[in-house]
Amino acid sequence: MSVENRLIDRHGRRHSYLRMSITDRCNLRCTYCMPPQGIDWTPRAEILTADEIVRLGMIFVGMGITKIRLTGGEPLSRRDVGQIAERLGALPGLKTLAMTTNGISLAKRAADLRAAGLNALTISLDTLRRDRFKEIAKRDQFGAVMDGIEAALAAGFAPLKVNVVVMRGVNDDEILDFVAWAKDQPVNVRFIEYMPFPDNHWSTGGLMPYAEMRALIQRDHELIPLVGDRNDVGKDFRIGGHQGTVSFVTSMTESFCGGCNRLRVTADGNIKSCLFHPAEQSLRDAMRAGGSDADIEALILSAVAGKQAAHPPMEELMTMKNRTMIEIGG
Ligand code: SAM
Repeated sequence: MSVENRLIDRHGRRHSYLRMSITDRCNLRCTYCMPPQGIDWTPRAEILTADEIVRLGMIFVGMGITKIRLTGGEPLSRRDVGQIAERLGALPGLKTLAMTTNGISLAKRAADLRAAGLNALTISLDTLRRDRFKEIAKRDQFGAVMDGIEAALAAGFAPLKVNVVVMRGVNDDEILDFVAWAKDQPVNVRFIEYMPFPDNHWSTGGLMPYAEMRALIQRDHELIPLVGDRNDVGKDFRIGGHQGTVSFVTSMTESFCGGCNRLRVTADGNIKSCLFHPAEQSLRDAMRAGGSDADIEALILSAVAGKQAAHPPMEELMTMKNRTMIEIGG
């Protein structure tokens, strides 16, 4: 079934990818994601219910979305995540149902999630060292994540994407270790430039630019570019003799706003047309006030119409009013 895409903004960008945060709760406390003082968890009653998530999914797919990613917070910390995945996975017209997770509880759930209809998975892993994992994530869960990765591969999530936020002086000395780790596994290691959010310790010095990461890898390996989709956020490469691939997500030094095809819904039901713009509109309130599908569509269209051409430069992002990454949903 092919749907006419109605999610086209003033700059001609066609939105087909929706990132839905299904919770703001998380069982890790990664320094780059959550402020040191923590966040006030949104009361449960304010978080979208499974029915509301599925209703929004249906409306968005009817407007042209073909890929939904469930994220958070930690999406697996929601007990009904399996049901949500199953119901969204059954939506006619949805081609990809993806999830980004910290992987901690994947060992026991990967196979069920795959059976429920999840067909793409990204796991976050910023270090291959147990002691360092605890320093970054403030929880001693390295073993659980590695078990989760093994279970995801066994369940057939291939290529399995692995997100590594590269922070200078924290884990930049492991870039080549990650490349070596990808040699014999069907993984796509994605080196992500460290992005600024309120109170997340970001500094220009902590950011390791894409060009520098790439040069470092190229000292030892030939990076062979892979041609991707124009909406891909990653610059993708294969390496001779490696089963796995590497990508760079260059949001800070080479932003990809021109090809952005993404919309976001926060766990409390606000639509956000850009990660880095504070503008939000509540779809939840409209649904709870008895709004029809047409009312919700009108709000979605107005958010799309208001989408900016590009996000501000990184120096400005540091001082801009925005919610933290964990509140917005990564
Ligand atoms: N809990 C899940 C997880 O750990 O993947 C999903 C939510 S997390 C916010 C989604 C992604 O955002 C993760 O891959 C994380 O590494 C990334 N992220 C969070 N803060 C970031 C930052 N300041 N810069 C770059 N990436 C960040």
